[in-house]
Amino acid sequence: MNHEPMTFIATNDLAGQTRGRAVPASRAASAHRRGVGWVPANLAISSFGSIVVPNVFGSTGDLRLVPDASTRTHLPASQDHAAVDLYLADQCLLDGTPWSSCPRAFARSALADFTAETGLEVVASFEHEFMLEDLDSSAPFSWQRFRDADPFGSELVALLELNGFGPETWLPEYGEQQFEITVEPTPALLAADRAVLLRELVRDIARRHGHRATFAPLTDPDGSGNGVHIHLSLRDPSTGEAGLYDAGEPGGLSALGRRFAAGVLAHARAITAVTAPSPVSFLRLAPHRWSAGGVFLAERNREALLRICPTMPGADIASQYNLEFRACDATANPWLALGTLIRAGLHGITHEYDDPKIWPEDAGEDLAGIEELPRDLPEALAALREDATVSTWFDQDLLETFIAVKQSEIDLTAGLDPAALCRRIADVH
Ligand code: GLU
Ligand code: MG
Repeated sequence: MNHEPMTFIATNDLAGQTRGRAVPASRAASAHRRGVGWVPANLAISSFGSIVVPNVFGSTGDLRLVPDASTRTHLPASQDHAAVDLYLADQCLLDGTPWSSCPRAFARSALADFTAETGLEVVASFEHEFMLEDLDSSAPFSWQRFRDADPFGSELVALLELNGFGPETWLPEYGEQQFEITVEPTPALLAADRAVLLRELVRDIARRHGHRATFAPLTDPDGSGNGVHIHLSLRDPSTGEAGLYDAGEPGGLSALGRRFAAGVLAHARAITAVTAPSPVSFLRLAPHRWSAGGVFLAERNREALLRICPTMPGADIASQYNLEFRACDATANPWLALGTLIRAGLHGITHEYDDPKIWPEDAGEDLAGIEELPRDLPEALAALREDATVSTWFDQDLLETFIAVKQSEIDLTAGLDPAALCRRIADVH
């Protein structure tokens, strides 16, 4: 009997789904060197499980999923599950070079270009909300809900600790059956990797405790949304200096930070096609939901698209200072979401944009005249297609396939009322 863990090598696709292949321990070393087989058209699988036809890849071609050792996530054996080492992979051509449509390569190249241009490293953390759908009703933020989720919750936190994710808070959230888990910031590619992995750990542990976890942006049209808030900061790798912070500037946002924000705001409508890409995502992105109620930058306002997060007095402000992008959810591929935000920020830094207005904390919810986010996914996809800047950041096969996958998800859910639509998306996310 072999007690070495199985090795599962995975990618995350345009539907935000994690898919891959396992090899036994005896094959792990060769899988690390050469990867495992994969198929280009797998990128055209929708959230509902079928390959979108036609797609640019068709039935031909071969790829390798080449695992990145830094992503190793160990799931110990349990009573009825073998131990597994889960790895995330780069999608490569047979000669080992990166595949131009690989979402992880998209993030990696955006980050590399950002650092080459600015000299700064991007640090990030993805904050996730989700629901355990089978729990009894309990009060927002309550001790009862925290306890009702155990031992799921403590096992999740322990597994994140074991794998070095640095869990920071595990909390019963506002909505019915809703929770939030936050992990410490890291270099941004690793943060996106951990977003992929964390979702699968949550789902996996939930299943093994008889719960059903969903990250659907909304499970009920009148209920709370499940967001993924992406926290971003910039750091000079040689001095450790914070690139977004300047104590002398409004809101503490440096001149460079203002330009970064300007790029994100200017392209926000196209960006949300990538960060909020399900037919239900834009029901969440509405005013007065504390998700993102419009295209604006604000200090400590949970309706903002970009929020300047609070810092703790007494502690080093520069090291805590970060911008939070709130218009993301877990139907998005974390690498595409991150890469798109970084490209937008870089575009802001390298082009002439007006300084964005920083809405003060005391502006409350009366934010007259702010630009609206797309009303639905078709409007966001049109914005992506029409944005002559954002659409060029993607390999054309990747962009075309992304739009085809999303269009098929729109077509397959056409005619559903909001409640049924929420249900349909919660079934697959
Ligand atoms: N649930 C909200 C969302 O949809 C976020 C609430 C919060 O600020 O934690 O994004
Ligand atoms: Mg929250």
